[in-house]
Amino acid sequence: MPNPFRIDGNWYKGNLHTHTTVSDGRLTPQEAIAAYAQGGYDFLALTDHNAVVDYDGLDPQGLTLISGSEINGGTGSLGQQIHVLALGLATVPEVPDESSYAELVAAIAAQCELCFVAHPYWSLVTPTELLAVQGHVGIEVYNTTCQFSIARGHSNFVWDILLAHGQQLWGFAVDDAHRPEEYAQALVMVKSTENSPAAILAALARGHFYASHGPEIYDITIEREEVIVHCSPARQIAVIQPAPGLGRTTDRLQQAPPFEQARLPLPSPELPFRVEIIDSEGRKAWSNPIFPEEMQ
Ligand SMILES: [Zn+2]
Ligand SMILES: [Zn+2]
Repeated sequence: MPNPFRIDGNWYKGNLHTHTTVSDGRLTPQEAIAAYAQGGYDFLALTDHNAVVDYDGLDPQGLTLISGSEINGGTGSLGQQIHVLALGLATVPEVPDESSYAELVAAIAAQCELCFVAHPYWSLVTPTELLAVQGHVGIEVYNTTCQFSIARGHSNFVWDILLAHGQQLWGFAVDDAHRPEEYAQALVMVKSTENSPAAILAALARGHFYASHGPEIYDITIEREEVIVHCSPARQIAVIQPAPGLGRTTDRLQQAPPFEQARLPLPSPELPFRVEIIDSEGRKAWSNPIFPEEMQ
């Protein structure tokens, strides 16, 4: 995919997984909108369980509202609940009873603009199950509520397994907010020509975004087989190349005090890489995989 830091457009901050009193969230749709407006977000998808929130009559408070829903499937191989996020849809998708991830995503993908797998770590979804899935654009690499409630918010390990198998999938950071303290925490920062639902969904599908629950990424570029990163103050910047085999995994820079730029060797110049940033409070930002030949 084209490097989002090297294409025209503006950056828009959004959250794509949020619950309200329409299902099991504590805030009403209007209160949830207010929380994200106050948090400086540009767009929001309210994604209640097996429901599509009617935005008619709500004050968007400057936010672009994107239709969405979190759809339940059956149970996975470890007995977990299967959840998939669907965006850009008018009604709740019809899905087979007790569907697997692959069956659920196949059904949902045909009935919405874009879908991705929710909270892999919370669900204990196995790489084998996810490798069989087709039709989604990515997985949640971070989920605020899963982190706050049971410390299983980070799913970068399974993302890297999928990337190492050659799957081109994007990493989403979302709130999945239910309780008041979980709203307006994580985000995706999307590069788009405009802040409309169609343009945002198209940019998300192409991977023109990065994910974060803290640090900001200002620029990523490549120069003579080195990756140059500019970001908000960080304590660690890593270039990660998930690929089979030894020795082509990660280069990192770690130093004190916090720094705002780094130049790191690209271990394998022919392979895609992603950048991960950690700030002094342990919060992370994740770029999507970037393909070196598209950086020039
Ligand atoms: Zn869920
Ligand atoms: Zn949820």
